[in-house]
Amino acid sequence: MSGTPMTRRQALLAWSPFFPARNRGRTRLSGVEFQVIRNGFRPKRRFLLIHGNETTARECLLAHVRRYRGIAHLVTGPDRYVEAGGGKLDPNRMFSREGALLSYSRLNPQWTPAQVSAAVDWLDQNRSHLLRKLAPPPQGLLFAVHNNSQGYSMEDEIPISDEVHLPLRNQPHEFFLAVDRIDFQRLAGGPYNVLLQENPKGPDDGSLSRLAARLRFRYVNLEAGLGKFEKQMEMMAWLERRLP
Ligand SMILES: [Zn+2]
Repeated sequence: MSGTPMTRRQALLAWSPFFPARNRGRTRLSGVEFQVIRNGFRPKRRFLLIHGNETTARECLLAHVRRYRGIAHLVTGPDRYVEAGGGKLDPNRMFSREGALLSYSRLNPQWTPAQVSAAVDWLDQNRSHLLRKLAPPPQGLLFAVHNNSQGYSMEDEIPISDEVHLPLRNQPHEFFLAVDRIDFQRLAGGPYNVLLQENPKGPDDGSLSRLAARLRFRYVNLEAGLGKFEKQMEMMAWLERRLP
């Protein structure tokens, strides 16, 4: 009999809404290793950390997925770039052939054109599997988190956006980027910067937002300055309240 009360207690905890079922694992998609964390049964949310050096976004997402139902994929490496397809690649450039071609060429200057196109062909073959794992189910949302430091900010995105809501124009490092107009409108009812890119202008850079806009699945990207943990957590929680 000894141990039975503990077992019962554990069973009760396992069923409690305050201790949602989670399991942790690792998977490799298009050559990139991800930590996978699941919270809840058939959740509609998908979460993503694609740049390993964006450490604040990683900490935020690890905390967030403990509280909110969804399936999170977090790249395991510590760098912005990954080794995939035999070369160095920015993983947020692998979502189109054109973007991957440019990224491989820039990051592997020693490669011949044949090596570049072989790697890009390989990514093309793997993309549908990658998307099956990362994209949300019908009506679901994929929520990606990023950090930026010097240089990049929403000022780079405003000219190629369809619509903008900029209540905090003097804080250009914190913003949401949506590809679905209804998500944009819901987010734009609040106090944070939001951009809509449902038909982004200019060349396809291979980022996930471009692919989501083209395939018409719901996708929101949250950018925050590196180190702004509280702000990023606050904006993530706010998105959960605003978006179904
Ligand atoms: Zn990033």
